Amino acid sequence: MEGEALHFYHVSGSLKGRIDKAAGEEITLGRAPDRHVRFDPERDILASARHARLVLEGRVYYLQDDGSTHGTFLNGEPVLVPRKLVTRDVIQCGRGGPKVKVYYDRDVKKCPVCGNPVYRRHIRCPVCERKVCLMCIDHQARACRDCAGA
Ligand SMILES: [Zn+2]
Ligand SMILES: [Zn+2]
Repeated sequence: MEGEALHFYHVSGSLKGRIDKAAGEEITLGRAPDRHVRFDPERDILASARHARLVLEGRVYYLQDDGSTHGTFLNGEPVLVPRKLVTRDVIQCGRGGPKVKVYYDRDVKKCPVCGNPVYRRHIRCPVCERKVCLMCIDHQARACRDCAGA
C-alpha cells in the first residue's frame, strides 16, 4: 500500500465493530461524507462534521483536533497540541462520543491463510502451529484450512 496505512477499529459508537482503513499524507475523521473515517451523521452527534485529522510526518501520524465542538481525546486525554499516534491508541470524538482504536498496518498481524488482518482473536493451528483467524480454522479437521485440505 502507498505510504503508511492505518486501520481504525470502531470500539464504541453506532458503528461499533466496523473497521475503516485509510492511508496518505492526511487522514480525516468526522461525520461529514468526505471524511476518511466517518461516523454516523444522525446518531454519533458528539462527533463534529470535521472533527480531527491525522498528519503524516515520516512514518508517524500526529493527531490534531480540527476545531471540533466537543473536543478530541487520545487515550482519554484532551488533544490540545498535535499528539504522536502509536498502535492501540484510542481516539475519541467528544467525551462520551464514538471511539476508534488505531493500528498501523505494519503492526497488524495477517492471517497466514487468507491474509486478512487478525486484531485480537486468533486460533493456533495444532498442525502447523501458525496463528490463523477464526474464519480459517476447520473445526472438524481441527486444523487450519491449509492443513485440513492437504
Ligand atoms: Zn484467515
Ligand atoms: Zn495449519
